[in-house]
Amino acid sequence: MSQLLEGKVALITGGTSGIGRATAVAFAREGATVVVSGRREKEGQETVQLVLAIGGHARFVAADVSDEKQVAALVDKVVATFGRLDVAFNNAGIEGVPAPISDATAAQYNQIFDINVKGVFLSMKYEIPAMLKTGGGAIVNTASVLGSVAVPGFGLYSATKHAVLGLTKAAALEVAGQGLRINAVSPAAIETDMVKRTFGNDSESPERKHLAAAHPVGRLGLPEEIASAVVYLCSPQASFVTGTDLHVDGGTLAKLPL
Ligand code: NAD
Repeated sequence: MSQLLEGKVALITGGTSGIGRATAVAFAREGATVVVSGRREKEGQETVQLVLAIGGHARFVAADVSDEKQVAALVDKVVATFGRLDVAFNNAGIEGVPAPISDATAAQYNQIFDINVKGVFLSMKYEIPAMLKTGGGAIVNTASVLGSVAVPGFGLYSATKHAVLGLTKAAALEVAGQGLRINAVSPAAIETDMVKRTFGNDSESPERKHLAAAHPVGRLGLPEEIASAVVYLCSPQASFVTGTDLHVDGGTLAKLPL
């Protein structure tokens, strides 16, 4: 059976856990060589091992997406090692410190915008020229359902994900005629460390049950369910899809709270 990303070179930021890790495995299963990036070497190597275990090809390159020199060096390293960059999943992000706007601090604002927004901006800034040199490719940025709506207490996070959608649309239009497609994926709550840090580890707790019930399908999503959507967006099957925001949210954004 042919693979959707056969022969492609793919870069994933925030590939050391959660959605990024699941996508590394999914990309490899579809035939891509995967560069797993993140700040944490040990967790990055664990992702690499998961890819190797299914017979795929991967390597870890450390980079903090909020640091321009490190992002530039990361993209340079991918191209120097593999000769090209075809696919990028700009997924690194943090939830920050949940707080009402009136309690949030300027330091918290700077930290979450540096990683969630500047990180996506810098990644695309260096990925786009690298991809155009070999005829284009596909980029997916991780936004969130909180890029389209907001909930009290998550104002800064929500603002960063609204910004990711703005960057995605503008970048997509800038390269639309050049063989490079740029889209966003917007998950609702997904079973990863991020949800566990925010809502606790116990899926039977009242907080976690309330969160699950807030999704029309009655449960949280799995990292693999986001990975499938990202594979689709990066594959030739999405050849006419650019500048869009794919909601992978169990019906969350379709729902009025009645
Ligand atoms: P996660 O915490 O497991 O993954 C986030 C990854 O980003 C981690 O590997 C982390 O080390 C990395 N990261 C953080 N700051 C970084 C930096 N400065 N440089 C490089 N890497 C950095 O959580 P996740 O749920 O897998 O999150 C992945 C993405 O999905 C994030 O952008 C998040 O905002 C988004 N998202 C998650 C959910 C959810 O419910 N889990 C919902 C919507 C959107």
